Amino acid sequence: MKTFLYGSLAVVAAAALLGACGRQDSTTYLVMGTNAEFPPFEMRGGPGGTKVVGFDVEVAKAIAAKVGLPLKIEDMKFDSLLPALDAGKVDMVLAGMTITPDRARNVDFSAPYYKATQVVLIRKGDPAPTRKEDLQGRTVAVQLGTTGAGVAVELAGQENVRQFTSTMDAVVELMNTKVDFVVIDEQPAINFQKRNAPDLDLVRLAFADEFYGVAVKKGNAELLARVNEALAEIVADGRYDQFVDQWLIQAPDPAAETAAE
Ligand code: GLN
Repeated sequence: MKTFLYGSLAVVAAAALLGACGRQDSTTYLVMGTNAEFPPFEMRGGPGGTKVVGFDVEVAKAIAAKVGLPLKIEDMKFDSLLPALDAGKVDMVLAGMTITPDRARNVDFSAPYYKATQVVLIRKGDPAPTRKEDLQGRTVAVQLGTTGAGVAVELAGQENVRQFTSTMDAVVELMNTKVDFVVIDEQPAINFQKRNAPDLDLVRLAFADEFYGVAVKKGNAELLARVNEALAEIVADGRYDQFVDQWLIQAPDPAAETAAE
């Protein structure tokens, strides 16, 4: 009885929390919006390859536990995620999403939970760019709506950038020799490069640091507070490090590489 009572109270509290964001079935789930094409943060996996798994899913589960609701995942195009949040179709977005001033005008971001950067993928054997300026006037494939797309447009020129809804389609375009480069976040780049090691090389240039954040609907201070609490807790109790060990690929240390040469 006691369990039942406390259980109901938790659900009522969670409903109040999510009610603020206007989603219809807010008593039932905490809904994470993502684009499951960004390994190792989110991708299809598990038995039969049908579940959405990855680093962000682990973080989202910890947030859902904090809120007291089971997690539900909505997989959609990357550029549909923030509109879905605004429309109340999802409660939070975890999608390896970089905190940017533009996005922060429309949604609220948690504290940063991961430091990332852009890198360039090239076909093995092709001349590698050595500076960002080497992208000027070259053709680049990117994922639509990403910070990588912004970087590519700035460096290569709008007319030279082909935008795809999926990261994999951008990589396939490169492998099919339709473009010179792909500009993409480092962890998915390492992942694609490993999977297609005979065909692809990864090049690091002086791109800025980017920081991933969890996005919630603008003004949903209650949920944002729970998200930040959950993030602080997983860091403090070692779960964050476990997720890193389980999912992320250690990027080679460029200093160590140079020393070995
Ligand atoms: N970090 C990049 C961005 O926020 C890419 C994210 C993604 O493609 N899932 O735009």
